[in-house]
Amino acid sequence: MNIDSERLTASLEALGRIGAYTDEASGIVGVRRLAFSKEDGEGRRHVVAEMKAAGLEVTIDRIGNVFGRRPGREDRVKPVMSGSHIDSVATAGRFDGCLGVLGALEVLKTLNDAKVTTRRPLIVAFFSEEEGARFGTDMLGSAVAVGRIPLERAYGLKDRDGRVVREELERIGFHGSANERLAAPHAYVECHIEQGPMLRAANVDVGIVTGVQAICWHELVITGRSAHAGTTPMNLRADPGVAASRVQLALRDLVRSGTYGDQLRATMGVTQFQPGLVNVVPNRVVASVDIRHPEDAVLERAEAALVSIYERIAAEEKVTLTHRQSARTPDIAFSPKVQDLVAKSAAARKLVAQKIVSGAGHDCQELATLCPAGMVFVPGEYDGISHNPRELSTPRQCADGVNVLLDVLTALAEEGGE
Ligand SMILES: [Zn+2]
Repeated sequence: MNIDSERLTASLEALGRIGAYTDEASGIVGVRRLAFSKEDGEGRRHVVAEMKAAGLEVTIDRIGNVFGRRPGREDRVKPVMSGSHIDSVATAGRFDGCLGVLGALEVLKTLNDAKVTTRRPLIVAFFSEEEGARFGTDMLGSAVAVGRIPLERAYGLKDRDGRVVREELERIGFHGSANERLAAPHAYVECHIEQGPMLRAANVDVGIVTGVQAICWHELVITGRSAHAGTTPMNLRADPGVAASRVQLALRDLVRSGTYGDQLRATMGVTQFQPGLVNVVPNRVVASVDIRHPEDAVLERAEAALVSIYERIAAEEKVTLTHRQSARTPDIAFSPKVQDLVAKSAAARKLVAQKIVSGAGHDCQELATLCPAGMVFVPGEYDGISHNPRELSTPRQCADGVNVLLDVLTALAEEGGE
């Protein structure tokens, strides 16, 4: 059995037209479908209509996660689930998340065409606010579904304009009635673009994802003293901007030291200087730090080293530096069984496959706390650029990944037991 590559491409293009915008710098058309926005609502209604057209029974839970169910021969046993997300960052392409949702839907359409009914029911899911781009918490919908984040806490989250999740869900008509706590499926498998350069550089067709690396975020608030840029001698300044810059350089040194192997990543993505005037030494800087490593224990050591770096720099620059851990997720190992099934399918289809650790967070890591779970990665062009309108996986690359997804889902859906 093979999926219909043209139908998959057309379906990615159709969803990509919803929330489309033209990037000013490049002229390339990208996607902007922030969670629970008008565009997200439109995208959701489009996918729900596609699900219904494929004969699926659709349910929506209280955090807006959507599930399309295809009955099995033995309809009471645990279902096999596949999916991802359709919300996007403000400057997205059309593949991140959408490939996982529309790919899973394409698998079910392929089974419909072949008149194949699997033993277990199959469910296509899309989860709310995976990106965290609007309400600040990534994997929000799937985290609520597995019980990591309580529903009431999720409801109260606010965006920059003070709008809250619950009202925004209601406004787009996706505040469902199904219990948000998901009953454990038999297994969960997600197809996703790699969002990095490794698979393409190695000429690999599909990535067998072994897990997700550990992630730690800090929010830094550095306080010094505002002063006149012309009259204040350098040695009398307490400049939090300089301290922030030194932390940023220290992050790179930490990685280059090699103390934590060659897989540590460290980024300062936000710096906000106050008052932010050209001729005033800033008095306050808010900055962010993002560090990641495939091994939790190593990340923990790097974080401890970082905290002593903060203290040293603050003392030397005569500023106050406080840090708050704003996110922390441990490394997640995906199911060896799912990894084996991905490898077997790739081999049977004569595709080159390679094991890879995910550098980004995904809904699958939440589902992995409920059931055996795993991912299939698809390479991307232009060094796998993502969260950018240039994001591109070719129809061939997408079809290879979704064909593997087809094999893995059907194998899992024939497994015995409850
Ligand atoms: Zn994604």
